[in-house]
Amino acid sequence: MSKADPAPRPRDLTPEEFREWGHRFVDWVADYLAHPERLDVLSKAAPGAVRRRLSPTPPERGEPLEAVLRDMTDVIVPGLTHWNHPGFFAYFPTTGSGPGILGELVAAAFNVNGMLWRTSPAATELEELVLDWLRQMMGLPGAFKGFVYDTASISTLHALIAARQAVDGLHAREDGVGGGAPRLRMYASSEAHSSVEKDAIAIGIGRRGLVKIDVDTEFRMYPAALEEAIVKDRERGYRPFCVVATMGTTSTTSVDPVPAIAAIAQRYGLWLHIDAAYAGSAAILPEMRPMFAGMDQADSIVMNPHKWLFTPMDFSAFFCRRPDVLKEAFSLVPDYLKTPETDVTNTMDYGLQLGRRFRALKFWMVVRYFGVEGLQNAIREHMRLGRLFRSWVEADPRFEIMAPTAFSTVCFRLRADDAANQALLDRVNASGRIFLSHTRLLGKLTLRFTVGNLRSDEEQVQMAWELVCRDGKGLS
Ligand code: PLP
Repeated sequence: MSKADPAPRPRDLTPEEFREWGHRFVDWVADYLAHPERLDVLSKAAPGAVRRRLSPTPPERGEPLEAVLRDMTDVIVPGLTHWNHPGFFAYFPTTGSGPGILGELVAAAFNVNGMLWRTSPAATELEELVLDWLRQMMGLPGAFKGFVYDTASISTLHALIAARQAVDGLHAREDGVGGGAPRLRMYASSEAHSSVEKDAIAIGIGRRGLVKIDVDTEFRMYPAALEEAIVKDRERGYRPFCVVATMGTTSTTSVDPVPAIAAIAQRYGLWLHIDAAYAGSAAILPEMRPMFAGMDQADSIVMNPHKWLFTPMDFSAFFCRRPDVLKEAFSLVPDYLKTPETDVTNTMDYGLQLGRRFRALKFWMVVRYFGVEGLQNAIREHMRLGRLFRSWVEADPRFEIMAPTAFSTVCFRLRADDAANQALLDRVNASGRIFLSHTRLLGKLTLRFTVGNLRSDEEQVQMAWELVCRDGKGLS
């Protein structure tokens, strides 16, 4: 090799280089987090714009991190929709809080794989510990054992597989779901998240295996309609096996009447899974507990600290009251993964995945930094701000409210047609200062406004209302 042709660098950053670049990157992140409001909350990037500015082929030789950092600033940041922006009121806002971000950094440095207790005892034990903290915070009984998955979609998939495992006389684990076994049926309201339907596809019962139950005028499942559907299905030879109740639906945050649904589940021997992906965080407020009545009767529950407990993506908490069934469904231990320890949890026994990120670390840091009281106060404030925004909408005759506000989400629209409401949404989102999302309620395009980011304060909420009023002029 000639002098002009240096050998490829086989080595990682040296400790000194890591320190230097670590400081540079942490400074960069601190600057980014200091003023996200200076950026457009909803990216204005045109499709393909980010890729066009980056090399379509991988670099043959290593590049200086300086160049990478430059692209981060010049190409990646403008191509982001900024979930850290205080004007982010779309979907369910999230917060990459400081302690959570630092937890991610340390978890990446450890880079442990917690698939077995012995492959990192601290990863397993901290996961068990922090989920037990969360269980206590939500007022759930000690019988619930927690596991961390990436998303609610995957947590619910695990719930359905456990529910299927619990069906007497069905040997889906060994024989699959075809053959002569009775066709399985599950139930959720017509307002349940699409992940429930995708999970029905994944477990092999198909979209027709999920019966969508009607909702009342406040978007809550009708228990009588649920019972009627179960009875009818049994008469037709189907095997009802699971009901998913939602506490905090995606469109309106409505809460299904869980005590009545739990009684029906018990009467007909169905597994009760509760999807509280967003609103479950509010269960840490003692004054909100009545809203979550019946949650303790579930067989499994999902809630996402990465939605409203200030933990960076991704972190979904899955609680199961029958972990033995979960283990029966999933445990499959080849010789090369056998370990001698007894009385420990090997997390691979309770789910699909083998490899497991050390996600518990960031949540542990979040809870320790804010404390339960700090987390409660933040959620309380978000609900106050949601109600404040709602009061302004209610007081303005140009607008109509489309659903109750159980938590911090306001569903509203101009008293005008869908085109006018779409124009309003497009205009406010083009401002770059706030981001609202939409849904369809009672056949009408509806704007959704949710407070959930730690950086969103009353000033931002007021600004959002002013923009909505400004951009709504002349449309109704
Ligand atoms: N369930 C509900 C009620 C949701 O609102 C959402 C997402 O907003 C999900 C499930 C899916 O969450 P994830 O993205 O974690 O799969």
